[in-house]
Amino acid sequence: MAIREIQTGLENPILRKRSEEVKEITPEIKRLIRDMYDTLHLDGIGLASPQVGENLRIVLVTTDPETKKAKTHTMINPVITFFSEETEISEEGCLSLPKFFANISRSREVIVQFKNEKWKTQIIKLNRLNARIVQHEIDHLDGILFADKAGK
Ligand SMILES: [Zn+2]
Repeated sequence: MAIREIQTGLENPILRKRSEEVKEITPEIKRLIRDMYDTLHLDGIGLASPQVGENLRIVLVTTDPETKKAKTHTMINPVITFFSEETEISEEGCLSLPKFFANISRSREVIVQFKNEKWKTQIIKLNRLNARIVQHEIDHLDGILFADKAGK
């Protein structure tokens, strides 16, 4: 188990930088992903690599959290290829902004394309809470925090 310290704060430069694409799976990338799992599973349903101090385009997303179907996906270089026009407003929080919660509008359905840990391309459609988590986490890779979208 290696739990990484969570980067926090609206002005934290690591959280505000655009993260770099991953070029290949190396032992360092594998270790980072393992550490991210250990860190996420303490508390949380999504985690982006900059939150543990690495500006790389990797996110973990737990779909259907707190159900029997719960599954954590490793998404490397994720890209949302479809955002539904239909949006939904719901409350969000973030491990990097402790004790801050706000209602945020997000697309109700998205299609996301990414590489998994075996470097295989995956394309999945997500909706509702699952779509929200992936949109929130991919924003982290572009230096965007959900607080930026509050009240919009
Ligand atoms: Zn977050």
